Amino acid sequence: MAAHAVRRFPEGFTWGTATAAHQIEGGNANNDWWEFEHAPDTVCAEPSGDGCDSWDRWREDVELVASLGLDNYRFSVEWSRIEPAQGEFSRAALAHYRGLCAALRDRGIDPVVTLHHFTTPRWLTDQGGWESGAAVERFGRFSEVVAGALGDVMSRACTINEPNVVAVMGWMAGMFPPGKSDKELSRAVAQNLIAGHRVAVEAVRGAAPGVPVGLTLSMTDYQLLEGGEAKLESRRHHSEDVFLDATGGDDFLGVQVYTRNRIGPNGWAGAEPGVPVLDMGYEFYPASLANCLRRAWDYTGGSLPLLVTENGIGTTDDVQRIDYVRQALGGVLDAIAEGIDVRGYTYWSLLDNFEWALGYRPRFGLVSVNRTSFARTPKPSAAWFSSVAAANALDA
Ligand code: BGC
Repeated sequence: MAAHAVRRFPEGFTWGTATAAHQIEGGNANNDWWEFEHAPDTVCAEPSGDGCDSWDRWREDVELVASLGLDNYRFSVEWSRIEPAQGEFSRAALAHYRGLCAALRDRGIDPVVTLHHFTTPRWLTDQGGWESGAAVERFGRFSEVVAGALGDVMSRACTINEPNVVAVMGWMAGMFPPGKSDKELSRAVAQNLIAGHRVAVEAVRGAAPGVPVGLTLSMTDYQLLEGGEAKLESRRHHSEDVFLDATGGDDFLGVQVYTRNRIGPNGWAGAEPGVPVLDMGYEFYPASLANCLRRAWDYTGGSLPLLVTENGIGTTDDVQRIDYVRQALGGVLDAIAEGIDVRGYTYWSLLDNFEWALGYRPRFGLVSVNRTSFARTPKPSAAWFSSVAAANALDA
């Protein structure tokens, strides 16, 4: 009889799932995304509207994470709710997030708090937002207030989610607010976001000592095609390395990976014939996760532990989701076997939610959400992921 291969994750490996405020809460009308979604010439497929109504239904979300038996839940706090006008902090909004953290802890789930996940309050974007160095100081102040209010109930803090994506999508691709296309400005914004990360690390360390803090970076498995050396080097430098350079002394690095990027002499070479292309417009390529973990580890010289803070797939085919995560996790096991210190895996996302400019069409959730009743229904992949987490092992 063939041996039944089971591959174990290290003891203490943590399992989680993630969301972000603007993608699930609903009604976040006071931030730059809402404005962008409602602009007359918007590139957005639809507005975020009610999201998944998680501002009200957050208890249901906590119960879902608990029912999956996961160790942690990563979510973001909405800056425009906590600081609706400059210097005016909402005690009620902070209490809301404290309640969420406390409910998670009651169920044995570690709250992982992201301070900035793509959205910026309108009062700040009216002053130039991240194009202006003033944003750095404002973000530092905000981080200090949040860390002070949640420090005793949060387990980990992530500063700025994917600053590289914010800079490129907002100031080069025009697909995020403010919808610009200006390479120099994009690079200046990247520098401000990097500075924002640094001030947030200091703020968390000052106001919430002992809470591990780090950056969550979007990484891509850059693959070289003939003649693409210079392009690849430049892309990787501006979109990853300058951010990795800013993580020295952090407590962890959050690695977030979805696909690969084949680079030839003219830049992105598109999908390889025969490889499925997902609703997001990029290839199904689960091996990208392990390749990026290797790159992050090599580049940082193994100086900080890695956590997969996002990995997942937007698909209506739940069997394909399981296939993707199974292969990605196999890669994580390979990376660990090679000596890379990977401490956990977070599936993006708990819920089918607002996928930014693409609206509600891409389905990343382990749980589907009815768009009118907001009823949540776990998919088969939720049960599968839960069983992997419970076993702390992958049944090959
Ligand atoms: C972002 C999420 C997004 C996910 C899937 C990541 O870049 O952090 O907000 O929903 O990818 O595209």
